[in-house]
Amino acid sequence: MSNRTFTMVKPDATGKGYTGAIIDQIIKGGFSIKAMKWTKLTKEQAGEFYAVHKERGFYAELVEFMSSGPIVAAILEKDNAVADFRKLIGATNPANAEEGTIRKNFAASIGENAVHGSDSDENAAIEGNFFFSFLERF
Ligand code: GDP
Repeated sequence: MSNRTFTMVKPDATGKGYTGAIIDQIIKGGFSIKAMKWTKLTKEQAGEFYAVHKERGFYAELVEFMSSGPIVAAILEKDNAVADFRKLIGATNPANAEEGTIRKNFAASIGENAVHGSDSDENAAIEGNFFFSFLERF
């Protein structure tokens, strides 16, 4: 069990002005921020980040969406970070997300679902390394 996870506030949420409220909910959920940046992915970078989903029918749509506007990338720390953060954000499809979760509060659809959360310790490390050098985290 690792104490770090990786998140992005996705382009739907940054575009609707939800960034501050989402980060506030993350901090109130007990996570501390170890690295953070406001950036925008190219299509190539979004394709690489989500390469694991290449064979899925929604891959092209996902790459288009994730490169359509700014994102906020962050490394978060808390005991049991990966599992606790998945709980805080709720189900992939906001229609199935529990009340009070970030996706229930801020997401519009299964594709445009406001936030990313790593699904394993291994992916949390890979995804954090995708965005941040060792000089950009503490
Ligand atoms: P997550 O771990 O909860 O983010 O879900 P997945 O790993 O299954 O999917 C990664 C991301 O792909 C999701 O967060 C969505 O943004 C997107 N996605 C998943 N399923 C669909 C879908 O059926 N349609 C579209 N357009 N996007 C999807």
